[in-house]
Amino acid sequence: MTEYRNLIKSFLERGYETAFFSQSPPETGALILRHDIDFDVGYAHQLSLVEDELGVHSTYFFLLTSRSYNLLEDKAREQIESIKSRGHRISLHFDPTIYSDVEHGAIKEKGIFENVFDTELDYISIHRPSEFYLNNPDAIAGMNHTYQPKYFEQVNYFADSQGKFRYGHPADSEPFRNMGTIQLLIHPIWWVTESSDVLSKLHEFLDYRIAQFQQHMSLNCKPYREYLEERS
Ligand SMILES: [Zn+2]
Repeated sequence: MTEYRNLIKSFLERGYETAFFSQSPPETGALILRHDIDFDVGYAHQLSLVEDELGVHSTYFFLLTSRSYNLLEDKAREQIESIKSRGHRISLHFDPTIYSDVEHGAIKEKGIFENVFDTELDYISIHRPSEFYLNNPDAIAGMNHTYQPKYFEQVNYFADSQGKFRYGHPADSEPFRNMGTIQLLIHPIWWVTESSDVLSKLHEFLDYRIAQFQQHMSLNCKPYREYLEERS
Protein backbone atom coordinates (compact mmCIF):
# COMPACT_ATOMS: atom_id res chain seq x y z
CA MET A 1 0.00 0.00 0.00
CA THR A 2 2.94 2.26 -0.74
CA GLU A 3 0.91 4.59 -2.93
CA TYR A 4 -1.65 5.18 -0.22
CA ARG A 5 1.07 5.75 2.38
CA ASN A 6 2.72 8.30 0.09
CA LEU A 7 -0.56 10.06 -0.60
CA ILE A 8 -1.34 10.50 3.09
CA LYS A 9 2.26 11.40 3.92
CA SER A 10 2.14 14.23 1.37
CA PHE A 11 -0.78 15.76 3.29
CA LEU A 12 0.93 15.32 6.65
CA GLU A 13 4.15 16.86 5.36
CA ARG A 14 2.17 19.84 4.08
CA GLY A 15 0.80 20.29 7.61
CA TYR A 16 -2.71 18.88 7.26
CA GLU A 17 -4.48 17.15 10.13
CA THR A 18 -7.22 14.60 9.58
CA ALA A 19 -10.71 15.52 10.74
CA PHE A 20 -14.13 13.90 10.98
CA PHE A 21 -17.34 15.20 9.47
CA SER A 22 -18.84 17.75 11.86
CA GLN A 23 -21.25 20.67 11.95
CA SER A 24 -18.70 23.28 10.91
CA PRO A 25 -15.63 22.08 9.05
CA PRO A 26 -12.60 24.37 9.41
CA GLU A 27 -11.76 26.44 6.33
CA THR A 28 -8.12 25.45 6.32
CA GLY A 29 -5.79 22.70 7.39
CA ALA A 30 -8.22 19.80 7.66
CA LEU A 31 -8.08 16.62 5.63
CA ILE A 32 -11.48 14.99 5.94
CA LEU A 33 -10.78 11.41 4.97
CA ARG A 34 -13.73 9.38 3.79
CA HIS A 35 -13.92 5.76 2.69
CA ASP A 36 -16.93 4.40 0.87
CA ILE A 37 -16.82 0.64 1.10
CA ASP A 38 -18.32 -0.67 -2.12
CA PHE A 39 -16.66 -4.08 -2.24
CA ASP A 40 -14.90 -5.54 0.76
CA VAL A 41 -14.80 -5.03 4.52
CA GLY A 42 -11.42 -6.78 4.77
CA TYR A 43 -9.84 -4.20 2.45
CA ALA A 44 -11.27 -1.42 4.64
CA HIS A 45 -9.75 -3.09 7.67
CA GLN A 46 -6.34 -3.33 5.97
CA LEU A 47 -6.45 0.35 5.03
CA SER A 48 -7.30 1.30 8.62
CA LEU A 49 -4.18 -0.48 9.89
CA VAL A 50 -2.01 1.60 7.56
CA GLU A 51 -3.76 4.73 8.80
CA ASP A 52 -2.97 3.73 12.38
CA GLU A 53 0.72 3.53 11.44
CA LEU A 54 0.51 7.01 9.96
CA GLY A 55 -1.45 8.39 12.92
CA VAL A 56 -4.48 9.50 10.89
CA HIS A 57 -8.20 8.92 11.31
CA SER A 58 -10.95 8.39 8.76
CA THR A 59 -14.66 7.80 8.49
CA TYR A 60 -15.61 4.44 6.99
CA PHE A 61 -19.01 4.14 5.32
CA PHE A 62 -20.51 0.65 4.85
CA LEU A 63 -23.45 -0.54 2.77
CA LEU A 64 -26.18 -2.57 4.42
CA THR A 65 -27.52 -3.49 1.01
CA SER A 66 -24.37 -4.70 -0.72
CA ARG A 67 -24.26 -7.81 -2.88
CA SER A 68 -20.58 -7.94 -2.14
CA TYR A 69 -20.47 -8.26 1.64
CA ASN A 70 -22.66 -8.89 4.66
CA LEU A 71 -22.30 -6.63 7.69
CA LEU A 72 -23.83 -9.24 9.98
CA GLU A 73 -21.19 -11.82 9.12
CA ASP A 74 -18.99 -12.52 12.14
CA LYS A 75 -15.70 -11.62 10.45
CA ALA A 76 -17.07 -8.40 8.97
CA ARG A 77 -18.51 -7.32 12.31
CA GLU A 78 -15.26 -8.09 14.04
CA GLN A 79 -13.29 -6.03 11.51
CA ILE A 80 -15.70 -3.09 11.70
CA GLU A 81 -15.63 -3.15 15.51
CA SER A 82 -11.85 -3.19 15.29
CA ILE A 83 -11.83 -0.14 12.96
CA LYS A 84 -14.12 1.68 15.39
CA SER A 85 -12.14 0.70 18.49
CA ARG A 86 -8.97 2.22 17.02
CA GLY A 87 -10.47 5.70 16.86
CA HIS A 88 -11.91 5.77 13.33
CA ARG A 89 -15.58 6.48 12.75
CA ILE A 90 -18.02 4.11 11.10
CA SER A 91 -21.28 4.94 9.41
CA LEU A 92 -23.76 4.02 6.74
CA HIS A 93 -23.13 4.10 2.99
CA PHE A 94 -26.68 4.47 1.77
CA ASP A 95 -28.08 3.48 -1.62
CA PRO A 96 -31.28 5.52 -2.13
CA THR A 97 -32.04 3.97 -5.54
CA ILE A 98 -33.41 0.76 -4.04
CA TYR A 99 -36.23 2.52 -2.18
CA SER A 100 -39.40 4.07 -3.53
CA ASP A 101 -39.67 5.91 -0.19
CA VAL A 102 -36.08 7.02 0.44
CA GLU A 103 -36.77 8.63 3.81
CA HIS A 104 -38.41 5.47 5.11
CA GLY A 105 -35.57 3.29 3.78
CA ALA A 106 -33.02 5.54 5.46
CA ILE A 107 -34.85 5.37 8.79
CA LYS A 108 -34.85 1.58 8.61
CA GLU A 109 -31.17 1.32 7.72
CA LYS A 110 -30.22 3.87 10.38
CA GLY A 111 -31.96 1.77 13.01
CA ILE A 112 -30.29 -1.45 11.89
CA PHE A 113 -26.81 0.05 11.67
CA GLU A 114 -27.06 1.81 15.02
CA ASN A 115 -28.32 -1.36 16.70
CA VAL A 116 -25.75 -3.70 15.25
CA PHE A 117 -22.76 -1.44 15.85
CA ASP A 118 -23.95 0.31 18.98
CA THR A 119 -23.36 3.76 17.56
CA GLU A 120 -25.25 6.90 16.58
CA LEU A 121 -25.24 8.09 12.99
CA ASP A 122 -24.93 11.78 12.28
CA TYR A 123 -23.25 11.69 8.84
CA ILE A 124 -23.91 9.17 6.09
CA SER A 125 -22.58 8.95 2.57
CA ILE A 126 -24.70 8.22 -0.45
CA HIS A 127 -23.73 5.46 -2.85
CA ARG A 128 -23.53 6.61 -6.47
CA PRO A 129 -25.42 9.86 -5.80
CA SER A 130 -27.57 11.34 -8.51
CA GLU A 131 -27.38 15.06 -9.29
CA PHE A 132 -30.27 15.50 -6.87
CA TYR A 133 -28.03 14.87 -3.86
CA LEU A 134 -24.99 16.92 -4.92
CA ASN A 135 -24.99 20.14 -2.90
CA ASN A 136 -28.41 19.28 -1.54
CA PRO A 137 -28.48 20.70 2.00
CA ASP A 138 -31.39 18.59 3.23
CA ALA A 139 -30.77 15.94 5.83
CA ILE A 140 -31.93 12.38 5.12
CA ALA A 141 -33.91 10.78 7.95
CA GLY A 142 -32.41 13.41 10.25
CA MET A 143 -28.86 12.56 9.19
CA ASN A 144 -26.42 14.85 7.41
CA HIS A 145 -24.64 13.60 4.33
CA THR A 146 -21.25 14.09 2.76
CA TYR A 147 -22.55 15.88 -0.37
CA GLN A 148 -24.13 18.73 1.55
CA PRO A 149 -22.72 22.10 0.42
CA LYS A 150 -20.53 22.53 3.49
CA TYR A 151 -18.71 19.33 2.48
CA PHE A 152 -18.90 19.60 -1.26
CA GLU A 153 -19.14 23.11 -2.64
CA GLN A 154 -17.66 24.95 0.31
CA VAL A 155 -14.59 22.78 0.80
CA ASN A 156 -12.33 21.22 -1.81
CA TYR A 157 -13.46 17.79 -2.86
CA PHE A 158 -11.34 15.06 -4.43
CA ALA A 159 -12.35 11.50 -5.19
CA ASP A 160 -10.43 8.54 -6.54
CA SER A 161 -12.26 7.22 -9.50
CA GLN A 162 -11.11 3.75 -10.58
CA GLY A 163 -7.87 4.35 -8.74
CA LYS A 164 -7.17 7.67 -10.45
CA PHE A 165 -7.86 11.27 -9.55
CA ARG A 166 -9.86 12.28 -12.58
CA TYR A 167 -9.68 15.99 -11.86
CA GLY A 168 -5.99 16.10 -10.99
CA HIS A 169 -3.97 14.80 -8.08
CA PRO A 170 -4.93 16.60 -4.85
CA ALA A 171 -1.27 17.21 -3.93
CA ASP A 172 -0.80 19.15 -7.19
CA SER A 173 -3.84 21.33 -6.60
CA GLU A 174 -4.13 24.94 -5.58
CA PRO A 175 -6.20 24.19 -2.47
CA PHE A 176 -3.41 21.88 -1.32
CA ARG A 177 -0.81 24.64 -1.80
CA ASN A 178 -3.02 27.02 0.20
CA MET A 179 -3.84 24.33 2.76
CA GLY A 180 -7.55 24.66 2.16
CA THR A 181 -9.68 22.03 3.85
CA ILE A 182 -10.12 18.98 1.62
CA GLN A 183 -12.65 16.18 1.64
CA LEU A 184 -10.85 13.19 0.16
CA LEU A 185 -12.88 10.17 -0.91
CA ILE A 186 -10.87 6.98 -1.12
CA HIS A 187 -12.21 3.56 -2.13
CA PRO A 188 -9.93 0.95 -0.50
CA ILE A 189 -10.13 -1.52 -3.40
CA TRP A 190 -7.99 0.73 -5.62
CA TRP A 191 -5.24 1.11 -3.03
CA VAL A 192 -5.14 -2.23 -1.21
CA THR A 193 -4.90 -4.39 -4.35
CA GLU A 194 -1.41 -4.55 -5.77
CA SER A 195 -2.03 -4.90 -9.51
CA SER A 196 -1.27 -1.92 -11.67
CA ASP A 197 -4.41 -1.28 -13.74
CA VAL A 198 -8.11 -1.22 -12.96
CA LEU A 199 -9.08 -4.52 -14.57
CA SER A 200 -6.16 -6.39 -13.02
CA LYS A 201 -7.12 -4.95 -9.65
CA LEU A 202 -10.66 -6.22 -10.09
CA HIS A 203 -9.41 -9.65 -11.15
CA GLU A 204 -7.11 -9.72 -8.13
CA PHE A 205 -10.15 -8.98 -5.96
CA LEU A 206 -12.18 -11.71 -7.68
CA ASP A 207 -9.43 -14.31 -7.20
CA TYR A 208 -9.24 -13.44 -3.51
CA ARG A 209 -13.00 -13.72 -3.18
CA ILE A 210 -13.18 -17.04 -5.05
CA ALA A 211 -10.56 -18.48 -2.70
CA GLN A 212 -12.55 -17.21 0.31
CA PHE A 213 -15.78 -18.61 -1.07
CA GLN A 214 -14.19 -22.00 -1.77
CA GLN A 215 -13.04 -22.13 1.82
CA HIS A 216 -16.55 -21.25 2.99
CA MET A 217 -18.05 -23.98 0.81
CA SER A 218 -15.57 -26.60 1.94
CA LEU A 219 -16.26 -25.78 5.58
CA ASN A 220 -19.99 -26.11 5.10
CA CYS A 221 -20.28 -28.84 2.49
CA LYS A 222 -18.49 -32.17 2.69
CA PRO A 223 -18.64 -33.14 -1.01
CA TYR A 224 -16.96 -29.86 -1.94
CA ARG A 225 -14.32 -30.38 0.74
CA GLU A 226 -13.60 -33.85 -0.64
CA TYR A 227 -13.50 -32.49 -4.18
CA LEU A 228 -10.91 -29.87 -3.16
CA GLU A 229 -8.86 -32.44 -1.28
CA GLU A 230 -8.83 -34.75 -4.30
CA ARG A 231 -7.68 -31.91 -6.52
CA SER A 232 -4.79 -30.87 -4.31
ZN1 LIG B 1 -20.37 3.66 -3.08
